Amino acid sequence: MPTIEKIREDFPILKRKVNGKQLVYFDNGATSQTPQIVIDAIIDYYSNYNANIHRGVHALSQEATDKYEASRIKIQKHFNAKNSYEIILTSGTTHSINIVASGYSSILSFGDEILVSALEHHSNIVPWQMVCEKVGAVLKVIPMKDDGALDMIAYHKLLNSKTKLVFCNHVSNALGTINPVKEIIDSAHEVGAKVLIDGAQACPHIKPDFQKLDVDYYVVSAHKMCGPTGVGVLYGKEELLNLLPPYQGGGEMIETVTFEKTTYAGLPHKFEAGTPNICGGIAFGVALDYMNSIGFEFIMKQENDLLKYATKQLEEIDGLKIYGTTNKTAVISFNIEGIHPYDIGTILDKLGIAVRTGHHCAQPIMDFFCIPGTVRASFAFYNTKEEIDILLGAIKKAQMMLV
Ligand SMILES: *Cc1c(COP(=O)(O)O)cnc(C)c1O
Repeated sequence: MPTIEKIREDFPILKRKVNGKQLVYFDNGATSQTPQIVIDAIIDYYSNYNANIHRGVHALSQEATDKYEASRIKIQKHFNAKNSYEIILTSGTTHSINIVASGYSSILSFGDEILVSALEHHSNIVPWQMVCEKVGAVLKVIPMKDDGALDMIAYHKLLNSKTKLVFCNHVSNALGTINPVKEIIDSAHEVGAKVLIDGAQACPHIKPDFQKLDVDYYVVSAHKMCGPTGVGVLYGKEELLNLLPPYQGGGEMIETVTFEKTTYAGLPHKFEAGTPNICGGIAFGVALDYMNSIGFEFIMKQENDLLKYATKQLEEIDGLKIYGTTNKTAVISFNIEGIHPYDIGTILDKLGIAVRTGHHCAQPIMDFFCIPGTVRASFAFYNTKEEIDILLGAIKKAQMMLV
């Protein structure tokens, strides 16, 4: 069983000071911190075998290719995908969603319907609006309830034979709501619709099983799960990825090229034009190994304890309101009566505490609650109750100063 003290030693950044205070990092929903073992993998790549992959016969290129492809297999195993070529390495969730959205603009027709949840991140709304505008498809919204859960009765009513696609996040980044993705997927399949699940906010906490979920497309970013920025995954079932046209043209994604006609490479290379983030892809595999060595059971339990502890104490603060109270991950989105979230964030920063303030790329959720934004504290398994006590003290201080 790992201990928190031991785990914290893996993260060099947690030792640093901000504005003269010990850093308290509660912005894990925006990006997670990086353990030394992942930092070492990045240094090792650039120090010892930096080379382009799939192209050279020389030793370095071979080594880089082997490690990159080994990482793809680690990712496949982690998520239990059927085939490694169903794992497309991208620059992140946003890129992954855009590959699917752009592909569907040549598959959808006028009058087709796309359902998108009211809890979406902008990166899962805007690309679909662009597709709908282009092909004359209709975007419909699965509404949410006051507690931050999706209205599943309304969802079932929205599904019909015109529904071609359903998009939903596994966990909401603004509120932490864990959505019933299995039910969403199964019901969509009953009417013949395909489902894309945005797992950017779920995978730091939950280990989804793609085959068990029977999910059609699933997207993830490495940087929220102890990996580097600029790398992520698009998973798709083989036959569905084959259905999509390539997203970008370039090197690596072709089989043969003449000026008359180009034939495309098979999966996964069809969607991997150009030189990828080789180092990032390799480091992502190391990050997954690291998280698995901690264990997702431990991660969930630790984060749940923090969530319960923080929620109970925050609820005792006068005028503090928490948004999203349903089944959720360790995210607390809140406001204090009479104070703008930005002002709280600024004072917390002065005290060394990193939180996110604003609309969290989810303006429709803020509109639902009729607020400009929230303060969001999002916890990771390396956070502690002592850090939550520091947050509570700082919030009380901010309240005294500002109200
Ligand atoms: C962070 C996040 C995204 C965007 O991820 P990028 O890494 O910025 O592409 C999309 N959806 C959700 C739910 C997120 O939390």
